[in-house]
Amino acid sequence: HIRHGRMVTLLFSRHRSAARHETTPSGEPRGAIVMKIESVTAHPLRTELETPFAFSQGWVRARCATLVEIRTNDGLVGWGEAFCQGLEAPEISATIIRDCFAWMITGQSPLDTERLWFEMYNRSRDFGRKGSVMAAISAIDTALWDIAGKAYGRPVWQLLGGAFRREVKPYATGFYRVTGQGEAARLVEEAHMHRERGFRFMKVKIGFGVEDDIEVMNAIHAAMEGSGVTLMVDANHAYGRAEAVYLGEAMADMGLRWFEEPVVPEDLESYAHLRGRLPMAIAGGENEHGLYGFNALFRAGAVDIAQPDIGSCGGIPSMRHIMALAQASGIEVNPHVWGSSVAQAASLQVIAALPDAHHALFARQPILEYDQSAHPFRNDLTTRPMTMKEGRVAIPDAPGLGIEVRRDTVEAYRI
Ligand code: CA
Repeated sequence: HIRHGRMVTLLFSRHRSAARHETTPSGEPRGAIVMKIESVTAHPLRTELETPFAFSQGWVRARCATLVEIRTNDGLVGWGEAFCQGLEAPEISATIIRDCFAWMITGQSPLDTERLWFEMYNRSRDFGRKGSVMAAISAIDTALWDIAGKAYGRPVWQLLGGAFRREVKPYATGFYRVTGQGEAARLVEEAHMHRERGFRFMKVKIGFGVEDDIEVMNAIHAAMEGSGVTLMVDANHAYGRAEAVYLGEAMADMGLRWFEEPVVPEDLESYAHLRGRLPMAIAGGENEHGLYGFNALFRAGAVDIAQPDIGSCGGIPSMRHIMALAQASGIEVNPHVWGSSVAQAASLQVIAALPDAHHALFARQPILEYDQSAHPFRNDLTTRPMTMKEGRVAIPDAPGLGIEVRRDTVEAYRI
């Protein structure tokens, strides 16, 4: 009874001291001490596609997103998005946000981004570290940075130390399949369409059989040769080592900027083998997570270009860890993004704050993944979805992520 009584007294005095802080003197950034997380709400969104499309791992029949909305006691709202893979149910990350982390961070300061990140990561280590758990942490972290930006009245890129660039050239991610194989002629038409819309970088989905891939790439490369278009390929880990070598050698003279996910993300030895064997840069990392995951990837010599996704790598703390590791390893970071306009806005903030991988007067700049596949609510989720003008996408300078989420769209697609 005495122990219980002491605990009640302790809780009571903590509560009283928190209440005292609410009369903090002016001059602090808005809510720096008294601001608290009041609610954390996950919104899993889903809509069926009229025309399903395929990437190498299967048919995408619905577009989904897992958003998180964090509200503070003084009325600020922050948004984040967990990367929802093409074959992933958005309820997975939503459940983790709700059952694992919401209660953990409610009542704490949203401005303690780093401390809350470590609390979430450490307390989920035994069942987390990768996949949807890290995606859930990523979404929450993004929302906290959105709140921090709004609290300080600055874009996230400024809180990260400033923008190395205020615009970015996008690349068209497309060339998904509607029948599966034998679509080279249609895919050439798609390349012309992207070029006419202003894209000068395009990433072709491959992984539909080595011979089919070679036919497609020969056709697209021939159609785009001399037009100022740079191509990339993405196998979504469809191959083993021997097939990937054969395919990579067949594409050796296409000037590819990178060959993405040739083999499964677990097979670091094959990654390293391909990197030594093939002439083009090897890229990967959209399915890797956190400091330790990327450390293993880099130490194995697996990639030339790391592609962390802000919605699954672990959020901004992880992105900073990865940037530092990459710099020390001579590796370029070029973020991956395949989500809605919330994820795209977060990715733009990170790209702004990404130092040149290899400093030079005309240093190569990161390019923005600009998904061109069907996504019925991608652009309707925010009031200012990103747009391309003259082959470039501007990086917003409004506070936080620089977006306003449309609640009517969230409600319309919420599961
Ligand atoms: Ca990819």
